Amino acid sequence: KRASREFHPEDSVIDVEGVKIGGGHKVIIAGPCSVDNVENVVYLAKVAKANGAHMLRGGAYKPRTSPYTFQGHGEEGLKMLMEAKKETGLPIVTELMSISDIDVVYKYADVIQIGARNMQNFPLLKEIGKLDKPVILKNGIASTVKEHLMSAEYIMSEGNDKVILCLRGTRTYEPSVRNTLDVTLVPIMQKMTHLPIIVDPSHAAGKREFVSALAYAGMAVGADGLIIEMHNCPKEALSDGDQALLPRDFEYLMNKLKELKPWS
Ligand code: PEP
Ligand code: MN
Repeated sequence: KRASREFHPEDSVIDVEGVKIGGGHKVIIAGPCSVDNVENVVYLAKVAKANGAHMLRGGAYKPRTSPYTFQGHGEEGLKMLMEAKKETGLPIVTELMSISDIDVVYKYADVIQIGARNMQNFPLLKEIGKLDKPVILKNGIASTVKEHLMSAEYIMSEGNDKVILCLRGTRTYEPSVRNTLDVTLVPIMQKMTHLPIIVDPSHAAGKREFVSALAYAGMAVGADGLIIEMHNCPKEALSDGDQALLPRDFEYLMNKLKELKPWS
């Protein structure tokens, strides 16, 4: 199959506006969970850039558990991300939730994120398979490795082979973490697939104080990168404030990661 090592023995290297990921190229993606306002997004992009991050994340279409909570600013939010890209040059990673939003998200995103809740939205996966844009495919809420890889096949079988797999943990019987992240899956999946594998420590930890340790663990086992939530005023964040690193936490983490010397 297309995602498997048998089909393609060499690591895939995916190029996002000149930023390479995979095959030894490590990438850090940081930014808010939700895009809230242009001041915060531009500020966080500058913090990300100043500390060595390679891309900016931010959600404009949010898959919220409750329909009564903030659902994202939509295209207005995408325009805020564009402003932050203009200021910093950082490519934009943003979530696409629905086939009906493909055109607008395509226009602004450099990497399209498919979230956990849509990992098995097969019609959506097939549609993004027809695009020529890199995709971050997160694992499902309670998916297996095989299911995750099969979802990558849905995208790749339509022609788009620029798939980055993201481990964000799964729901288990353990309530003390938001999601249980098994970092062993990084080397296990690297044996199975040539696609880059990144770790999302934020949605796994669920709490700020545990994010950096999990991020470090992910890089220590050989992940190709991280996608991390960060906010300058987490109490006012419109989603996932509890797990948002403060700028100073992010700076600490980026310095800590240097111990691993993941960058050449
Ligand atoms: C997110 O990245 O903010 C998000 C909703 O993540 P997940 O799909 O992993 O829950
Ligand atoms: Mn989030």
